[in-house]
Amino acid sequence: MTGRVYKSTGSWYSVKTELGEAYECRIKGKFRIKGIKSTNPIAVGDLVDFELEQNNDQVSGIINTIHDRSNYIIRKSVNLSKQTHIIAANIDQVFLLVTINNPPTLTSFIDRFLVTAQAYSITTVLLFNKIDVYDEDTLNEVRYLAHVYRKIGYECIGVSALTGKNIDKVKALMRGKVSMFSGHSGVGKSTLVNAIEPTLDLKTKEISMQHMQGQHTTTFAEMFDLHYENADGARIIDTPGIKGFGVVDMDKEEVGDYFPEIFALKQNCKFNNCMHMQEPDCAVKKALDADEISFSRYRSYLQIVAGEDEHYRTEDWD
Ligand code: GDP
Ligand code: ZN
Repeated sequence: MTGRVYKSTGSWYSVKTELGEAYECRIKGKFRIKGIKSTNPIAVGDLVDFELEQNNDQVSGIINTIHDRSNYIIRKSVNLSKQTHIIAANIDQVFLLVTINNPPTLTSFIDRFLVTAQAYSITTVLLFNKIDVYDEDTLNEVRYLAHVYRKIGYECIGVSALTGKNIDKVKALMRGKVSMFSGHSGVGKSTLVNAIEPTLDLKTKEISMQHMQGQHTTTFAEMFDLHYENADGARIIDTPGIKGFGVVDMDKEEVGDYFPEIFALKQNCKFNNCMHMQEPDCAVKKALDADEISFSRYRSYLQIVAGEDEHYRTEDWD
């Protein structure tokens, strides 16, 4: 049988088949996946094959195969062992909620997030939330940001989780897919998920890092089926208590590859190892001078290359 992992509690995995039958499954013996050293071999979102086993009058499953993952997100464990923990796998898209104020979301934060998602091979959709309370100047700021990010290929939608404005568009994008929601604390994630699926009571409230130490982080991610009209198998993965989107270790030379507008131009630079800083005949610097590349994006690029964005990793965001 084949099913999707919805929840994991250390040694047990809740697996649901395509027909909607749920089984509690275990792994027998050692289970290692090539290339990844992690504390958990199987994560929420994994597609697994399993066999049923009868124990007295209990039926449970034994997982024997994990299907290849399209992507997965990790976090380094908080304890000293620095082991990698796979939070979730096979994520189709992440919605990044952005608010201009209450709380403010900086472009450096957005760009860092996009780079990480890009490195993880996860599509990001930007949702500018709380448009119901913005004055004309603030709305212009939203329009400007949406223009900047649309130009480099990101879908952007202005929404109000409170009034329901454009939530139908979000639902349409979620149809048949596995989604995640992210953004600073207070941007409206719980309100938005509630607007999409009122019966779903997500535990989106954070658990402090202190609290998490020494605990099995495996209990935190969980996948939920959505039942709105035409949801068509839409699911969300909730990761309460997990701050951030994980950290991807990348070389300075790699950073530009995760900025779509820099990646698109780099073959036009004179040097193929161009860092787009002081080098002569740099296509990226030319595009910047011609206003074809946004300055705030370029500034974020420089910050990430310089490692100046470290504080965003510990900032308060989910
Ligand atoms: P979370 O921390 O991201 O889950 O944010 P919440 O969903 O808890 O929302 C934080 C606050 O923002 C709450 O007081 C919500 O009522 C409010 N809020 C969320 N979405 C909107 C919105 O679209 N418009 C307005 N005006 N307030 C919102
Ligand atoms: Zn260059």
